[in-house]
Amino acid sequence: MSNNTMKFDTVVVGGGIAGLQAALDLADQDFKVVIVEKDASIGGKMIRLAKVFPTLDCASCITTPKMSAAAHHDNITIFTYCELKALENAGSGITAEVRQKPRFVDETKCIGCRQCEYNCPVYVSDEEQGGFNARKAIYVPFSTAIPQLALMDVENCTLCGKCAKVCPTDAVDYFQEPKDFVIEAKTAIVSTGFELTPLENKQQYGEGNIPNVISALQMERLLAPHGPYNRVLRPSDGMEPDSIAYIQCAGSRDKSMGVPYCSRVCCMYAIKQAMLLSGALPLADIAIYYMDIRAFGKGYEQFYQNSIAMGIEFIKGKVATIDAGENGTVKLHYEAQGNGGGVNIAEHDLVVLSLGMVAGWNPEGVCPVSTGSDAFIETVKPKIAPTLTDMDGVFVAGVAAGPKDIVDTIVEAGAAAMEASKYMVAMARTSKAAA
Ligand SMILES: Cc1cc2nc3c(=O)[nH]c(=O)nc-3n(C[C@H](O)[C@H](O)[C@H](O)COP(=O)(O)OP(=O)(O)OC[C@H]3O[C@@H](n4cnc5c(N)ncnc54)[C@H](O)[C@@H]3O)c2cc1C
Repeated sequence: MSNNTMKFDTVVVGGGIAGLQAALDLADQDFKVVIVEKDASIGGKMIRLAKVFPTLDCASCITTPKMSAAAHHDNITIFTYCELKALENAGSGITAEVRQKPRFVDETKCIGCRQCEYNCPVYVSDEEQGGFNARKAIYVPFSTAIPQLALMDVENCTLCGKCAKVCPTDAVDYFQEPKDFVIEAKTAIVSTGFELTPLENKQQYGEGNIPNVISALQMERLLAPHGPYNRVLRPSDGMEPDSIAYIQCAGSRDKSMGVPYCSRVCCMYAIKQAMLLSGALPLADIAIYYMDIRAFGKGYEQFYQNSIAMGIEFIKGKVATIDAGENGTVKLHYEAQGNGGGVNIAEHDLVVLSLGMVAGWNPEGVCPVSTGSDAFIETVKPKIAPTLTDMDGVFVAGVAAGPKDIVDTIVEAGAAAMEASKYMVAMARTSKAAA
């Protein structure tokens, strides 16, 4: 074993809620687990949400303990800000080639004090806050990020040297290089999650260029207690919106966008956000334009009924196009179903697109695991063993296998961990019998 090779029982690719749960379930059984995450923090999309349906628990309050349990577990090692270069099973076990991207901050020295961030003079749009406010060119990704380490955004850094001057531990390293290492493991769990359907190919919805048309993930940030404005404001002019509309199936069940499937969570998250908005803006009118409501999980139908009782308006109709109206309003052209039908126009102060889920990782050229026609990881026994992939020793959990909510993600992560555990116990038995 060369000195850049490390051995573990399981390598988990993706440190969202699926990867964290699978890692914790294996680590609690005394397996040695390594999580490889591409972002600078673990937590995935769940740590970026405001509250979660159907309980309306604060997302950060239930995600942070899992993140911290994984970070402090003796059997779990976490590598963040890493690129997976290759993952294969040549017969003797799993080999993963990983590249640690340079943070331009020495991880062994950084104490997360943020002095570099406070003193950096460069302001850049903060993608963690939906692009609504600014961050610095050297920054800790967000307040509950794990690890609490700064990283430098070299594209925007002006090399003024202020961060290096104020760092109390001399951690800033402008010359840091990427580091390559190899992980050898007995099993792997792919939990690479999802991205939102890109809007660029939906010309009818303005390709992301109409002011005051935002994504549901951006609305999560507006609703979050530690969000960009601490209240819900319209991004173009800071006005408190009086009328807010949700457009359902804005990036799912839409062949023109290459996403013919249902993303399963958009009805529920739109209902959740509408309920939270009616608390945040009690005088605002909130409408949801929908084709049909899919409230499929335990307690979800009741959640939907509660939203109707709270006064959320449900308008059955497909929104065909969106245009910019006057004074920052947004005009929807939609075909109503029922009430005589016909093409209607409605104007709202703020419009939220319920974008769907597309696969978060394309394994092509990196790993020979198969994907389905929807680009999510293919499961070979979807009914009786839904976490099995077509690669020996490689399992899948969460949205990496297809759209699902947090409850199903957690259940699937536990199932993937159990399949991996069974596989490793069987392996140990075989080698004991052979000895
Ligand atoms: C707007 C919105 C609101 C939602 N609200 C709710 C809700 O209220 N309740 C609910 O039950 N569900 C909700 N969901 C769904 C919920 O977000 C998902 O079910 C959950 O996040 C899935 O977790 P995951 O770990 O599978 O994927 P993710 O959260 O996407 O995590 C995947 C992780 O893998 C990493 N990764 C990807 N590719 C690689 C790679 N090649 N190498 C290393 N790492 C990689 C990513 O960076 C990420 O950290 C909502 C979704 C959206 C979009």
